[in-house]
Amino acid sequence: MHEMSLCEGVLLILEDNAGKQGYRRVKTVWLEIGNLSGVEVEAMRFGFDVVTNGTLAEGANLEIIEVPGEAWCMQCSKTVPVTQRFDACPDCGSYQLQVTAGDEMKIKELEVE
Ligand SMILES: [Zn+2]
Repeated sequence: MHEMSLCEGVLLILEDNAGKQGYRRVKTVWLEIGNLSGVEVEAMRFGFDVVTNGTLAEGANLEIIEVPGEAWCMQCSKTVPVTQRFDACPDCGSYQLQVTAGDEMKIKELEVE
């Protein structure tokens, strides 16, 4: 499962930051997941619980913030909403779109102690 390795990546960041910022426990993780990233929210929740078991983030809340997809349409010269990576522009039907938001996953905020 793809999400399992993503969760391991998140945990590595948490452990790395713990050393730098001097916290010992992670209580809440706010994770931004773009609608175009292909990441399954439910699989992330499941993977997070499994991966953090026995770590500094054991039992931490995982708050998922879903980020809507956006792309720049070269024909319209404006930002348009997209629901899939290779969508056409909803206004003009062009496929000359450059995705500008919603295609990544990142840690937005942490609650630690
Ligand atoms: Zn357009």
